[in-house]
Amino acid sequence: MEWLVEKDYQVVSLATALDTFRTDYPLPPKTIVLSFDDGCRDNLTYAAPIVRRYGFAPIVFLCPDLFGQAEGKHRDFITPSPLLTRDEALELIQAGWAVGGHTRRHPRLVGHCTGEELDDEVGGCRVAIQHLLGYDAKIFAYPFGQFDAVVKQCVIRHGYEAACTTLGGFNTARTDRFELRRIVIRAGDDLREFHRKAQGAYDWLGYFKRRSLEKKILRQAESTS
Ligand SMILES: [Zn+2]
Repeated sequence: MEWLVEKDYQVVSLATALDTFRTDYPLPPKTIVLSFDDGCRDNLTYAAPIVRRYGFAPIVFLCPDLFGQAEGKHRDFITPSPLLTRDEALELIQAGWAVGGHTRRHPRLVGHCTGEELDDEVGGCRVAIQHLLGYDAKIFAYPFGQFDAVVKQCVIRHGYEAACTTLGGFNTARTDRFELRRIVIRAGDDLREFHRKAQGAYDWLGYFKRRSLEKKILRQAESTS
């Protein structure tokens, strides 16, 4: 975070970035949004004090049915840290963090859910966050980064305004609002790797991942039509 400030990056909230995309004003090229998936407790214990020091406002994507769960395996989903309780999630909101939806239980959505389960996981997540946290979660993040045309339509149908993928790269006003790109920073990345990622060193990989996904979605559309 210190490096971002030193190198004149501007860290804004995801809502600010999306609002700016709706205007004619471009964001400065060195603009960064911070997002965290899953709602691990270490977001509160480690990340929150650090980002507070710099006045940054990240977004955390939560699975409300997993609040307070221990670290370990939850069906397909393995978390290296205990997950935030409801009260801890509220603490993050009070600290200025935004909250987004990440399904109710973090299942694999593509090819593993019936239409009913999909609605429950995607729409039910938004309802549960409203109910438990009194927060209107307007942005979604696909669990495991996996989505297809069906999942994307479901997210749109349930009133979310945007959705984050794990397809690498930068976003502009022309990026599909429901296929927002992100640069995945892993726990094992050292500072040099973080610098490389922030500077877009791996964006070419995102290009190929997007291309192969587009082909897959196209094939899916052809086989269902
Ligand atoms: Zn996740």
